[in-house]
Amino acid sequence: MTPVVFIISAPSGSGKTTLVRRLMGEVRGLHFSVSYTTRSPRGQEQDGREYSFVNREQFEEMIEQGRLLEWATVFGNYYGTARHFLEEAEAAKQDLLLDIDVQGAEQVKSRVSNTVSIFILPPSRPELEARLRHRSQDSEAVIRKRLRDAQREIVGYDRYDYVLINDQLEQSAAFLRSIVLHERWRHGSDLAEGDPSLLREMAEGCRTERLRSQVQPILESFQHEMSGGE
Ligand code: ADP
Ligand code: 5GP
Repeated sequence: MTPVVFIISAPSGSGKTTLVRRLMGEVRGLHFSVSYTTRSPRGQEQDGREYSFVNREQFEEMIEQGRLLEWATVFGNYYGTARHFLEEAEAAKQDLLLDIDVQGAEQVKSRVSNTVSIFILPPSRPELEARLRHRSQDSEAVIRKRLRDAQREIVGYDRYDYVLINDQLEQSAAFLRSIVLHERWRHGSDLAEGDPSLLREMAEGCRTERLRSQVQPILESFQHEMSGGE
């Protein structure tokens, strides 16, 4: 069985970590890829759990040896996905879950056939700002930088198969689960389960092309704030 590779991207603070944790707890057979990065650990992060932390030399060696399925420079640091996660998922008859940025998503889509990409958006820029503050993980300067970066990243939503506007957490978690299960049915996966027609109805409502009119005001909320003199 070829694994389905689920790619999830989102601007920081949209709720990606929260939703991915929920998904991993609710859906069996998902292998989470722990990325390699040259950035330093933050807060309670542990080596091998959130990331595998390496130095630039080690990362560049991995590139040279062709050990990375994709890699990118994000905020001045290297981030990459090791190929062995795909091999492990295949051997364990599981699907693979990648939490990577827009550049990495493009590379994986061009190199792997069974991909499903999902972009998570906050309901608006003010709500994103409120979540970043509420999380109380970052300094004011970092929050402002994350908001500016979010503006750049969200325009890439268009290249994803599905969009999730993370307004109500419970609802978003249910939609994310339905996308994964629906895609398993579509791919004829041994891991498919649940009512296929119900899952199709829920998941298909999250197709990017069906959500453009709902995404437009979110994009505009970012443009307004930016033109408001940051
Ligand atoms: P990310 O991984 O995208 O940076 P997090 O999962 O850390 O985001 O979420 C950012 C903050 O927003 C956290 O404090 C989280 O509890 C909160 N959050 C996530 N989803 C929602 C939601 N739907 N409604 C309100 N708060 C949310
Ligand atoms: P953070 O440093 O805040 O954890 O992550 C910064 C950004 O890097 C996020 O957009 C995250 O999705 C992205 N990222 C994390 N791991 C990888 C990876 O392996 N490859 C790529 N291309 N991006 C990654």
